[in-house]
Amino acid sequence: MKIQAHIIYSCGLSGILFFIIQSWLISVSTFISGILIDIDHLVDYFINEKQIKFDIKDFFYKCENNKLLTAVLPFHSYEFILLLILISYFVKDSILTGISIGFSIHLLIDVIAGVVKKVIKIQNYSILYRGFVLKFQYSKTFYFSQND
Ligand SMILES: [Zn+2]
Repeated sequence: MKIQAHIIYSCGLSGILFFIIQSWLISVSTFISGILIDIDHLVDYFINEKQIKFDIKDFFYKCENNKLLTAVLPFHSYEFILLLILISYFVKDSILTGISIGFSIHLLIDVIAGVVKKVIKIQNYSILYRGFVLKFQYSKTFYFSQND
């Protein structure tokens, strides 16, 4: 999903959250984390480029046009989100709670959008599945309908 869509729904979600729970810290951290979770695409971009490189135009071009070789995407995984929720449950920190909400909703929207558009299977959002079964290969993670 494109960043503009994530900004729009994160804004709406954090507004609704603020209306319900009246916490600026949770609302703002939900908004920011709902967008910044996509920073993990940099991991695959750096692997693809074989260096740490910050060419924003090239980064967005390669991400949006499926020019990457790997799909490690550590934050886009059920396992990471579950761990984050568990930690925030025990730590009870407003910012961590907001990050958990932002990351969880972002992943949920990515999963629904990807499955509806038929560009990814639901199990491909498991980092263990991506690693052990798909070997983190981008072409096996996305666009399964063209590859199967
Ligand atoms: Zn995403």
